[in-house]
Amino acid sequence: MNVPFLDLKTQNSSLKQEILADWERILENASFIGGEYVERFEEDFAQACNTSHCVGVGSGTDALRFIFIALGLEPGDEVITVPNTFIATTEAISQAGGKAVFVDVDSATYNIDPSKIESAITPRTKGIVPVHLYGCPADMDALHVIAQKHNLWVVEDACQAHLAEYKGKRAGSLANAAAFSFYPGKNLGGCGEGGAVTTNDKGLSNKIQMLRDHGQSKKYHHEVEGYNGRLDALQAAALTVKLRHLPAWTAARRRHATQYREYLSSLDNIVLPFEPEYAKHVYHLFVILINNRDLVLEQLQEKGITAGLHYPVPLHLQKAYSHGNQPSGSFPVTEGCAERLLSLPMYAELSDEQINYVCTELKNCI
Ligand SMILES: *Cc1c(COP(=O)(O)O)cnc(C)c1O
Repeated sequence: MNVPFLDLKTQNSSLKQEILADWERILENASFIGGEYVERFEEDFAQACNTSHCVGVGSGTDALRFIFIALGLEPGDEVITVPNTFIATTEAISQAGGKAVFVDVDSATYNIDPSKIESAITPRTKGIVPVHLYGCPADMDALHVIAQKHNLWVVEDACQAHLAEYKGKRAGSLANAAAFSFYPGKNLGGCGEGGAVTTNDKGLSNKIQMLRDHGQSKKYHHEVEGYNGRLDALQAAALTVKLRHLPAWTAARRRHATQYREYLSSLDNIVLPFEPEYAKHVYHLFVILINNRDLVLEQLQEKGITAGLHYPVPLHLQKAYSHGNQPSGSFPVTEGCAERLLSLPMYAELSDEQINYVCTELKNCI
């Protein structure tokens, strides 16, 4: 049997007619930039996140960067985040003029460890960026207590957490603003690049609308220098179609996670993902911890199963951040995860037989 890590083709073929009908209209009207499809998607996605504003942008990275710029980050300002994330989180901080300051993660959720934040705060600290890693929300109440005490903003990196919930509230509505990615492999993925900012702050939303469009308040009137970072109509149309299916796809991911747990819970040399009481995890990835990880990865591949690594090299050990002089040992929980984590195949279209097969082969090789 073959179990790919991700199967986008099945999803695309089931939605092809619906998406192509909208794309045909866009082609006929040549309305590629802005317009009704973008506006409708922004409305629908704001509603899905339970926020008053959504601004469609070019990517999740744009979303993060525009939020940090709109919040007024200045050179030398520090922003606290984690070293076990995709580099886009910290690229956006640096490119907005700030400096990313790492704190280690919690060994149960792999999300930012609130108890380690206060010792990283300095007079230059402006904000905290929790990453809802793998689709599990960070412990937001604990972060807000610290943020209030030190007068910091909080921005969610929700790029892996579409429809995730914290104490019954949707990811995207849990802080000053949130960044989402619609990269094709995300829980809600477009047919190319895309992203969005959600917020309840009208002023911030207005600034981001300008930033994505060359700082324009109206055509050829530029309040500030901005960027070319818009969500395009073709992506917005495809995302609007897909968003209607997202609740069902999310439920399917959660069912698959339950099935994985049932099969794997008897194995005491595997650590299964933790779903805290406060969270509705949306399983962008189903990540286990295992000792002989590299060997298992290879053996699964020989059986036709593709697993993944998210992420094998923590950010503080990347060449791009070697100037930070944070050697191996600086963030032990993150480093331990990087050596032992393994992402099993996870997507809505995965079948029971495929999950059984993955679990059986995994048992055989550990
Ligand atoms: C995917 C991702 C991003 C970046 O999104 P792009 O749309 O690829 O720019 C940022 N942060 C995290 C945690 C991500 O997974």
